[in-house]
Amino acid sequence: MQNLFNRRWLLASYPEGMPVPDNWVMDKQSVPDPGPGQILIKSKWLSVDPYMRGRMSPASNYTKGVALGEVMQGGGVGEVAASNHPAWKVGDIAESMSVGWQEWSVLTPDVAGPAGVNRIDPKLAPIESSLSWLGMPGMTAYFGLLDVGRPRPGDTVVVSAASGAVGQLVGQIAKLAGGRAVAVAGDDNKLQWCREIGFDAAINYKKTADLVAAVKQACPTGVDVFFDNTSGPIHDAVMKNLSMGARVVICGRVSLAGQFGKPDIGERFMAQLIVSRASIHGFLIFDWWHRRDEALRRLAAWHREGKIRFKEDVLEGIERMPEAFLRLLHGKNFGKQIVKIG
Ligand code: NDP
Repeated sequence: MQNLFNRRWLLASYPEGMPVPDNWVMDKQSVPDPGPGQILIKSKWLSVDPYMRGRMSPASNYTKGVALGEVMQGGGVGEVAASNHPAWKVGDIAESMSVGWQEWSVLTPDVAGPAGVNRIDPKLAPIESSLSWLGMPGMTAYFGLLDVGRPRPGDTVVVSAASGAVGQLVGQIAKLAGGRAVAVAGDDNKLQWCREIGFDAAINYKKTADLVAAVKQACPTGVDVFFDNTSGPIHDAVMKNLSMGARVVICGRVSLAGQFGKPDIGERFMAQLIVSRASIHGFLIFDWWHRRDEALRRLAAWHREGKIRFKEDVLEGIERMPEAFLRLLHGKNFGKQIVKIG
């Protein structure tokens, strides 16, 4: 694409503790041409997600990190501007976790799994939904809760980061499964929203001196399913309130973003696990990718029927990608953080 430029965010340094804006630098390159079997997309919306903290590291996590000088990894959705793939034409809408923090990207549709390319039907929902309730965060809530947490009618389900992309859906799906949903978040307005979408009880962990007692009060019969998005002190408090046979879903550890790569610091809960015969399960959405269509079909149906609602937090402009990401780690986002690209 001659005479067109691609603004991109490159990783400039690895953070010590919490990331800061100087960890990235923006550059400007010619727009690349797609090779055989590839497509070029113009980004319309980019996603920021807590997992990106793990990519800002030379150490491998469940996948390898971004090298210094490379484009920051991330998901996005955009319009096909050129195609060398028989199944894709100019104007189609494509979503992928391989887009990166950039205005234009070359994608390979025949790659399978999470790094692949998904065709988005703009008639089904606004295309940015493919980054939130109708995409990876939606799948995370759906499989993490229903397949790993396995809520039964009447169960008490506690969710941390409850107003976020994943958390707000976990609470609503818990209600659809006949459970009682308890939100934990760090802001009263966020908790008010959680109540509006059906959560039965709410705990502001920033305003609560005794979190163990607050969880006990909100969950008088104990916690049957704990969907843990944060780790840290919220985890510690909920673990002391497990009911018999509880299931703990370890989904994320956003509260430890400032101590990435260091040992998790906290109590151990072997006694609680024995007494309550609880199970604790590490969860990664990549393992459920082959069932993506099932989750999205059900989420779309619930949304169509008015059974789930979803809040997004929108910033505008590629310039704001670092700011958008840092908002997540500092709890400033209210709903799924996405960035509209001009
Ligand atoms: P959110 O939209 O929930 O944003 C992150 C939220 O985390 C913030 O809004 C903030 O809310 C909360 N938070 C930040 N710092 C702290 C802290 N120190 N203590 C407690 N809460 C904090 O993000 P997502 O919904 O996208 O992701 C939620 C979690 O799910 C993350 O941990 C993420 O890594 C994980 N995840 C895991 C997947 C998997 O396959 N295992 C897939 C997708 C997501 P508040 O104001 O309430 O503090």
